[in-house]
Amino acid sequence: MTQPILDVLHDTFGFSAFRGVQDQVVSRVMAGRNTLAIMPTGAGKSLCYQLPAVALDGCCVVISPLIALMHDQLRAATALGIRAASLTSVDADWQETQDRFRAGELDLLYVAPERASSEGFRNLLGRAPISMFAIDEAHCVSEWGHDFRPDYRLLRPLLDSFPDRPRLALTATADAHTREDILKQLGIERDGMIIAGFDRPNIRYAVHPRDGLTRQIGDLVSANPGPGIVYAQTRAGTEKLAEQLAKLPGPGGKRQVRAYHAGMPPEVRRANQDAFIASEDMVMCATVAFGMGIDKPDVRFVVHAGLPKSIEGYYQESGRAGRDGEPAEAHLFWGADDFARARMRIGEIEPERQAGERARISALGALVETGSCRRAILLRHFGESPPETCGNCDNCLNPPASVDATQTARKLLSAVYRTGQSFGIGHLEAVLRGQTNDKVTQRGHDRLSVFGIVQDDEVALIKPVARALLLRDALDTNEHGGLMLGPGARAILRDEVQLSLVLPPKRAKRGRRGSDD
Ligand code: ADP
Ligand code: ZN
Repeated sequence: MTQPILDVLHDTFGFSAFRGVQDQVVSRVMAGRNTLAIMPTGAGKSLCYQLPAVALDGCCVVISPLIALMHDQLRAATALGIRAASLTSVDADWQETQDRFRAGELDLLYVAPERASSEGFRNLLGRAPISMFAIDEAHCVSEWGHDFRPDYRLLRPLLDSFPDRPRLALTATADAHTREDILKQLGIERDGMIIAGFDRPNIRYAVHPRDGLTRQIGDLVSANPGPGIVYAQTRAGTEKLAEQLAKLPGPGGKRQVRAYHAGMPPEVRRANQDAFIASEDMVMCATVAFGMGIDKPDVRFVVHAGLPKSIEGYYQESGRAGRDGEPAEAHLFWGADDFARARMRIGEIEPERQAGERARISALGALVETGSCRRAILLRHFGESPPETCGNCDNCLNPPASVDATQTARKLLSAVYRTGQSFGIGHLEAVLRGQTNDKVTQRGHDRLSVFGIVQDDEVALIKPVARALLLRDALDTNEHGGLMLGPGARAILRDEVQLSLVLPPKRAKRGRRGSDD
C-alpha cells in the first residue's frame, strides 16, 4: 500500500492499519478495477469505498437501499471531515447538494437505486468528475438473494456509461448463487471477488430440537450470567418469554429481563435498548430487528427460539454475540413446525423467488439436522473451506450417536396412512406403541396392523423420526397439525432410501456441559 493511502487511513479515519481484506479491496479499487467485496458485518466495509473516495479525484457515488442507513453513513463520514451529501426524498437541501457536486466539492454522494437510475441523475453526473461507484448491500440486485430490490437491476446502464470508473459492490451476505448473480448483474469480472473470513472462533454454536422451550431457554440463561439476547419469532412471543425468564434467579435476586419489538411505544423501546447496552447481566427478549446497529461488544449469548429466515440471517444475528472476542454462545432451537410454516409461506411469494426460498430452507435443514460440525456448515455456506471439525460447537464437543431409523420411519408412515392421514404425532405414537386409550379404541385403531408394532427401545425414535420426515418432505401437516404423507414418503416406504438419524445428546449430559463452561 502506498504511503499517501496510509496517510489518509491515519489522518482522516484515525486507524493505524487496515483490517482483514480492506487493503486488498482498497488497492484494487485504487487501481481502477471492478470489485465485489463480501465482508461480514463489522468487518469495515464503509472504509473500502470511503477511503478511495477521499484519495481519488472526483466524487464517489454510493448507491444504498435505505434512507436511514444512508443518513447514518453520512453522519459518520461528515464527522470525519469527509465532504458528503445525500439526495433522498427526505433531504431538503437538494439545490445546495447539486451545486456542491457541480463545483467538485463532494467526495461522497449517497443516492437510492431508483434515483441513481433516473435520467435526471445521469445528467447531473455529466456535470462533474466521478471517481467511482460504490454499490452497498449489493445482494439486493439478486432475485436469488433474500432482499431483492428490483431497482438495483436498473443500475447497470448507469455503471456502463462510465466504463473507466471502477465499481465496488459490497455485501455481508451472499451465498454462492447470489454472488454469481451480483457479478453478472453488475458486470464485475470473476477475479474481482474478494471474500473476507467469516469465522467467529469464539462463538460456540449449538442447535437443539425444541422440547419444553421455556425450560430449555431457562436452563441456558441460568448457566450464562452475562448479557444475552433471546430472539423470539413474534412480538407477543418476546413479551411472554420475558415474563417467564424474569422469574429466574439472578445475581441481585431476580434476573433482569426486558422485551423489545417494533410494536412497543418508541420511548419504551429506547429505554429498554439503553438499559441493555448499559447492563452486564440483562436478557433481552426481542424480535430480530433488535441488535441491528447497536454496539454492545460483550453480549455473551444469543438464543433463537425458532428457525431464522436464512443461514445469512442466522450468521448475522448470532454474530451479535462475543464481538469482544471473549467466549460466547449461540443456541438455536427448532421444531418441525418451523419448517412446515416456512414451506407454507413459499406458496405465497412470487414464483421467480420460490427457488431461492426453497434453497434457503433446505440449507437451514442441513444446519439443524447435521451430526457433524455446525461451524463447517456455516463457513462452507459462505464459500470457505473449513476443517471438518472446529472443536467449539455442540457436535464437535459431544459427537452425537447416529442410528439407522429406516424401519421406524416406515412404521410411522404406515401408521399415518392407515389411520387416514389426519392425526397428530401423539395419537400416532399411542397407536404404534399399542396403547388402548379412548381415542384409539373409538376409532378402531387398535385393530389396525400397525397397532403396537413399535418396540419399547424404538419409542424414543418416533418424534425425532417425525421431525426428520417432515424436513425431508416425506411427511406434511394439514392445517390442524395432522400428519399426511408427502412426496418423499414413497421412496422410504419402498426401502429405496435409508433414514439415518442423529440422536441429540441426553438432557443430563447437556446440563453437565453447561456447568463446565
Ligand atoms: P460494516 O459496514 O462492514 O458492518 P463498518 O464499516 O460499520 O462495518 O465498520 C465497523 C467498525 O469497524 C466501525 O466502528 C469502524 O470504525 C471500524 N473499523 C473499520 N476499519 C477499521 C480499521 N482498519 N481499523 C480499526 N477499526 C476499523
Ligand atoms: Zn464444530
